[in-house]
Amino acid sequence: MELNKRPVLSELWQFLKGFLTILFPPSCLICDKALSIGTENEDLFGLNVCPGCKDQISVLKPPFCVLCSTPFRTSSAESHLCGYCIRKRPHFDLLLSPFVYERGIEKIIAQFKYGSSGREGKSLGNVMGRFLRERYPLKGDEILIPVPLHPKREKERGFNQTLLLSYGIREVIGIQILKDAIRRNVYTKSQTGLNMKEREANVKGVFGLKEREKIAGKSILLVDDVATTGSTLSECAKLLKRGGAKKVVCLVLGRAPFSA
Ligand SMILES: [Zn+2]
Ligand SMILES: [Zn+2]
Repeated sequence: MELNKRPVLSELWQFLKGFLTILFPPSCLICDKALSIGTENEDLFGLNVCPGCKDQISVLKPPFCVLCSTPFRTSSAESHLCGYCIRKRPHFDLLLSPFVYERGIEKIIAQFKYGSSGREGKSLGNVMGRFLRERYPLKGDEILIPVPLHPKREKERGFNQTLLLSYGIREVIGIQILKDAIRRNVYTKSQTGLNMKEREANVKGVFGLKEREKIAGKSILLVDDVATTGSTLSECAKLLKRGGAKKVVCLVLGRAPFSA
């Protein structure tokens, strides 16, 4: 009897989910207009935006840096290693992002991060999961690690946005989350407005590694909402590599062009 119970429950859940979508259709993440059913934006990995707002979203397309995905300004160039990665190699092995961090994506992330509920996190994580499934050869034994907030900032915000995104990613690709692997020990000022050197100095030594035994020999998918200079992700990757991680691939929702 027990064996038959789960599929029935999962079918019932799928049915209920479909029913709820009809009653409460998803709304556009930019203008809040209700979206009509059956118009998922496959070209945007299922991002909930209406046809009128779609042109505010830039999918990250080549040419870009083959390591940190920084988009190049000239569209005629081939993808190659960018100047920043040549001068100072980041500690992660690869950084992936479905979108450029500008216009619509900037708005969506700001609303999610600074809004009160964080309820968009799961659907945005689903988008990241679909993108990853399409673009990266997953083995299935990877571990998701969200970049942590300092406990004080998490308390102020009410949630950690990278953990909510990780739940959404897990829903699509079905791999485990190790949520307390990295701890932010120092309450740092916001990275906004800082240049690359200042950002590096701001995050240097602020993280600590926990659960080292669960990281050794593993491939890590490190999750953040945005990559600007990549300093935070590189600092976390350095720690994970020192802890014995085999590979660190970063996944973000928006990749900013360098401004520093
Ligand atoms: Zn809209
Ligand atoms: Zn690069």
